[in-house]
Amino acid sequence: MNLVACFPGKYIQGRRAILNLEKMMNQFGDKAVILTSPTARKYLPAHFVHANSSSQVSTAHFGGECSEEELEALMQQICNERADVVVGMGGGKVIDAAKIAADRAEVPVIIVPTIASTDAPCSGCAVTYTNDGVFEKVHYQRMNPSVVLVDMDIIAKAPVRFLVAGMGDALATWFEARSCAATSSVNECGGLSTMAGQNLARLCYDILLEYGLQAKLDNEAGVVSQALSYVTEANILLSGIGFESGGLASAHAIHNGLTALEETHAFYHGEKVAFGLLAGLNLNGTADHEIEEVYRFCVSVGLPVTLAELGIAGVTKEKLMQVARKSVETGSPIHHEGRGITAENVYDALLKADVTGQRFIAEMG
Ligand SMILES: [Zn+2]
Repeated sequence: MNLVACFPGKYIQGRRAILNLEKMMNQFGDKAVILTSPTARKYLPAHFVHANSSSQVSTAHFGGECSEEELEALMQQICNERADVVVGMGGGKVIDAAKIAADRAEVPVIIVPTIASTDAPCSGCAVTYTNDGVFEKVHYQRMNPSVVLVDMDIIAKAPVRFLVAGMGDALATWFEARSCAATSSVNECGGLSTMAGQNLARLCYDILLEYGLQAKLDNEAGVVSQALSYVTEANILLSGIGFESGGLASAHAIHNGLTALEETHAFYHGEKVAFGLLAGLNLNGTADHEIEEVYRFCVSVGLPVTLAELGIAGVTKEKLMQVARKSVETGSPIHHEGRGITAENVYDALLKADVTGQRFIAEMG
């Protein structure tokens, strides 16, 4: 199998970086369609907001779900207006819709994340849901986004829970990449991981440990600081390249398992991934001092370390087994941890992660 790595074409991050959007769009042609969520719309330069379908730029309304219906409407607009480039600006679902629609229309896509809550912006894959919000399918695009533009003034104003969830998603990156390397498992680009994939994943983890807590405090204060800038890069760029070029393993598999329980739907992707990581560390012989390091980090920034913190205190054995069974489905990345992982193993790992979490909460108070 070949080594394969994927990257966004260009990554720009900084204060008022949004001012680069027009120049970036112009590089691809005369006509752009900008898809935004209602909350992200206020960050668009004013002359874009008042544009209409005959202007150089038009805006598309996002209905809230990255579903086939939504994609169809967006495709219609892209084709009718003969757009040369699509911009997706907002949170994860807007970004995913823009990526899939642009790929189908065979035009480049520029991604402007307004929160640092996941590592989706830089990747070449996206997820669709039914109109009721139930996970449907992962879609792989031919190429990664042409440009990812991150405005730190926008990120610093976002609610802190998004940044913390993004740290949860990014926290798992190194451990999952390491497991894939240890078992020569396929990464998310369909190959084996490069040194770039492995080392960027490790850098992502190191930055979180050193600057994660400070970044959270700065985000709470709405301050664009060095720590917030480093962690934003870790959450969006390093974790993005790290998971795609390094690969996924138990943390995301257990995340997928947890989505089987309705009670966890109120929790963000990265929050479930963080707990998935804590459980997953029990499946691959991770050293105690490393497990302790991860728990201490999670408790310090407020990522969930117990089942209660994921809204499933006192969950029945039957329900937890449902999570475990979904985590080990055929094709699940949990099998990148090694051979023979069963639902019973995952069930035990979930309980152990919970008990250990309770101990650290009591200790760190
Ligand atoms: Zn993720």
